[in-house]
Amino acid sequence: MAKRDYYEILGVEREADEKAIKKAYRRLAMKYHPDRNSDDPAAEEKFKEATEAYEVLADAEKRAAYDRFGHAGVDPQMGGGGGFSGGGNFGDIFGDMFGDIFGGAASGRGGRGGAQRGSDLRYQLDLDLEDAVRGTSVKIKVPTLEECHHCHGTGSEDGKAETCGTCNGMGQVRMQQGFFAIQQTCPRCHGSGKIIRNPCKKCHGEGRVQNTKTLEVKIPAGVDTGDRIRLSGEGEAGRMGGGTGDLYVQINVRPHPIFERDGANLYCEVPVSFVDATLGGELEVPTLEGRVKLKIPAETQTGKLFRLRGKGVKPVRGGAAGDLLCRVVLETPVNLSESQKELLRKFHEDTSGEKHSPKKSNWFDGVKKFFEDMKP
Ligand SMILES: [Zn+2]
Ligand SMILES: [Zn+2]
Repeated sequence: MAKRDYYEILGVEREADEKAIKKAYRRLAMKYHPDRNSDDPAAEEKFKEATEAYEVLADAEKRAAYDRFGHAGVDPQMGGGGGFSGGGNFGDIFGDMFGDIFGGAASGRGGRGGAQRGSDLRYQLDLDLEDAVRGTSVKIKVPTLEECHHCHGTGSEDGKAETCGTCNGMGQVRMQQGFFAIQQTCPRCHGSGKIIRNPCKKCHGEGRVQNTKTLEVKIPAGVDTGDRIRLSGEGEAGRMGGGTGDLYVQINVRPHPIFERDGANLYCEVPVSFVDATLGGELEVPTLEGRVKLKIPAETQTGKLFRLRGKGVKPVRGGAAGDLLCRVVLETPVNLSESQKELLRKFHEDTSGEKHSPKKSNWFDGVKKFFEDMKP
């Protein structure tokens, strides 16, 4: 089974603070604790899952690694340890809640017999808008756990492994603690069900090694921020014969200096002189395929949107290309000489009044009325 997202497991936002994470975990832990659900193996799984998520998200360093690399960044199985028994933040939330009973129950992890599917990896890929729209191919470097070539993933130097006598190969043992019988990961074989007398020198018995691999990823045209591309079998190698996880490439499109994207449509702002806006004219506007001419009519007001059909983005999931919407913005002239200013003053005298500025005249009438209405 693929590993779920830790934030999703705890039901918190990605920006959640430490307090919110602790609170969410406490709620889940109370609900799913094995002592309260002794006949429900699903609850136990949920409990383990929540514990694992909390263990990572409550630790600033692990959380940062997880945010960047996904499960690969924080795999607690690294180094062949027995799960979460050493968790630093772990005691403080539980000491008061479950006391000794809690014991090792939370430290168990992994399936019966030790076979475990490799974790899914997540990789955030930043793309320029042009590449996202046209599609591209990128090489990415992914840190991952790969099957150890030296021992072919068995973890054994000589290829031999004995069945663990403590758990009879089950990977789990039952412990009696007071009134409670607790199923826990075998402390001797750490859940693998096998004892390797002569561990592999390369991977120290883990069966997997940390590596960085380079992958070529084809990005289809039209992707947008939030889209995910799944590369099946490119995640981490499993343990003890478990399947390989998947790699999810998470697309993030960088802000563009000219265009803003909203679904299939693109937006841009085009500055226009007040003379062109007044008399009408032809503007040059940018599209992703180059410049095109845009005719604007006389008496165009600032903020008006002009639609260029089909000059937007063709969505990755199919359908027609969107439009490019150009918003014209009047630019006030700057750096005028005294004689140019004089021309404007003349022009102003000539054109003041309702005839040439109906909006302005109406607006002032409205303001006047507003203040008159306020008078007692
Ligand atoms: Zn090895
Ligand atoms: Zn065992």
